[in-house]
Amino acid sequence: MISCRFFWAGSGYDTGRKDLPMKKRLIATLLTAVMVLSLAGCGKEEVPAAPDAGTPETVEEQAGETQDANGSSGDSKAVLDMLRGAGAGEIETDADTASADDGEYLLSKNPNARIFYTVDSAGNVTGTYDRDEIIAAVGDRGSDYVRLYDKQSDWYSDDLIAYDGRFLYFKSYQKYGNDTDYSYVVYAVDTIDYEPYLLWKSEPGDGSYIDVAEYYKGALHVSVNCSRNAEGHLSDRFENCYTFDEAGQKFVETGSGLEDLFAAAIARDYNVQGRIAYYADGRQCYSHALDEVGWILAMNEGEYGRLTADGQFTPIKPLWSDGYPYVVTYDDDYIYFTCWDTDSSCNILYCYDVGRERARALTIPAEEVTVLGYLDGKLYYSIRTMEEYGYPVNTVYSYSGGSNRSEQLYAADSVPGAQFTPGIEGFRIIGGRIYYITFDTDRLEWVSADAHTPDEAYKSTGCVVEEVNAFKYGTVESSSEESACPYCGTTLFRYYSENFVLDDEYSANASVINDFLRQRRDEFFGGMENSDYAPADDSDCEYHLEYPTQNCITDDMMVGDVEMLAGGKLMTVSMNGYWYGGGAHGYPNREQYLFDLKTGERITIGDLYKGTEEEYKRIVAEATKEDFLSYTYDNSPYFSNDSNEVYNQAYGEASFDSPNIEYDGEGVTIIYPPYDMGSYAAGYIEVRIPYDRLNINL
Ligand SMILES: [Zn+2]
Repeated sequence: MISCRFFWAGSGYDTGRKDLPMKKRLIATLLTAVMVLSLAGCGKEEVPAAPDAGTPETVEEQAGETQDANGSSGDSKAVLDMLRGAGAGEIETDADTASADDGEYLLSKNPNARIFYTVDSAGNVTGTYDRDEIIAAVGDRGSDYVRLYDKQSDWYSDDLIAYDGRFLYFKSYQKYGNDTDYSYVVYAVDTIDYEPYLLWKSEPGDGSYIDVAEYYKGALHVSVNCSRNAEGHLSDRFENCYTFDEAGQKFVETGSGLEDLFAAAIARDYNVQGRIAYYADGRQCYSHALDEVGWILAMNEGEYGRLTADGQFTPIKPLWSDGYPYVVTYDDDYIYFTCWDTDSSCNILYCYDVGRERARALTIPAEEVTVLGYLDGKLYYSIRTMEEYGYPVNTVYSYSGGSNRSEQLYAADSVPGAQFTPGIEGFRIIGGRIYYITFDTDRLEWVSADAHTPDEAYKSTGCVVEEVNAFKYGTVESSSEESACPYCGTTLFRYYSENFVLDDEYSANASVINDFLRQRRDEFFGGMENSDYAPADDSDCEYHLEYPTQNCITDDMMVGDVEMLAGGKLMTVSMNGYWYGGGAHGYPNREQYLFDLKTGERITIGDLYKGTEEEYKRIVAEATKEDFLSYTYDNSPYFSNDSNEVYNQAYGEASFDSPNIEYDGEGVTIIYPPYDMGSYAAGYIEVRIPYDRLNINL
């Protein structure tokens, strides 16, 4: 067992490069561990060829075993104009078929965001919701299935699915009531009186799960895959529709008439796949996809075909001859998929022409390709490029299969300290408008523009995602460094770090705080000389060149939240980091510093707690033991199953100088990093101790 505690639990006073030997040892161990290809990373730094203002041209075609270099019709302006004209015609048709019973849409940073907005199909913002207010309004109604907030994990646990103009729909996967195992639930909350309604619940532990849930044509459609048998085949699939019966004041369940389609899929052991909805993480229900496409894509181990509602199956030639294509979405003419390209160690996005039975690459190797959405025959995607480590640029394109052309919509630069993914986070296509989250001054907010008017500027919707405190109280600085192998040129180290800079108005001694945080950042880079890191000789270069991602150690440290406590007398600065040194995963790192704003000095729990350190250790150990006991055996994040052992370890680690403590308005959180008290998968184990219990009065 590798003990990693030492380097990520850095106290901040003495981290710097002292922790390097530990990192190096860890690197060596990880590099000899299982080699797993990183999905996101790109081995070679290749920026898309940008002949036309960064517009990627298709670069590769493949039709079965033969290559056809003459597939693009984009060379002829007349043909292109004709195709564009045809595209515009499609848009009108689609707009005509859109109706009010498609409901409304959600602007939510993620499915469990606290603040979210509703938007109608014309693009008007119709509502602002705060999950805390919904929780208060629902009260204890539906307590056997509503878990809008999970106390134990301090998490808004139920995922938002949809909004229909009146009901908000949620889904979750929890243990309910006296159930001994987990089950899925889908429920609705009436936004008039906040009455919850249970729509569907799986039997605990029966192996069934929600495949897709979408509000479509006046009903919430829930598609479920039932348990797998011994051979791993699904035993059943179905799609139910739920509508509210005003007279009976209850939801009514009906089938969706897709029994023949699902029966055919199960009989052939084909997996059916839905299409992406108005944002890439959401999928259309099968009824919706059938209405728009006429068939559903069915797959099984490299075999593909079209399944129609009557259960008829029509095979499609393989999408790509090498690797494992991952289908992103499709329409009636094209299937979009990504596939790992071994030459470039990158994922590449492809478009397969169903009629001509051949695929062509939309993107050339780029660091990261993200599919964002699909609307009116256009696929929206982003490619990430990085000229300087730590400062990625996401460039968003729309691609039309008809014209085989990508058009650049916008490019979004990284914003150090803003804690979001610029340009692609929150990407939605609603009512013909594109929405995404952007940073402005001191907040993240939704902006939007017409999807069909490429030159239209993105304007604020007035919908704030969240305020970013680091910019409310100051600014954020950043820098990065890279180091390459002197023999083969492979980048072996990449470091990026941010530091918060407090405005003078919050402290007469802001400079003391800022000097400390700058020094902290400089120590992070200390010793970044090629000579310290360079291999002794070129004996590893073949390996460097073959697995550049596995050989590159990255270490990032970002500014997280900045909070004022005790009426502005104290301030916390949180930092979130991530270290990667090859292997299947890296390691998270989080630190928090507590400052006295009057003096600018850092203070510790020993400055706030009035008792002895011995008493403090006992309180922490007791609280950790209580946290351990709050879990059942099968959901415990702790390695140990002995409460005394947990108590003793917590007691041993607790001290006035421990860096593994975080402060907020109500109390402290003792954090146990991965591998300390629990597994990597368990993440940080957090133990809350309110100030009352410590007799601290901030
Ligand atoms: Zn080398």
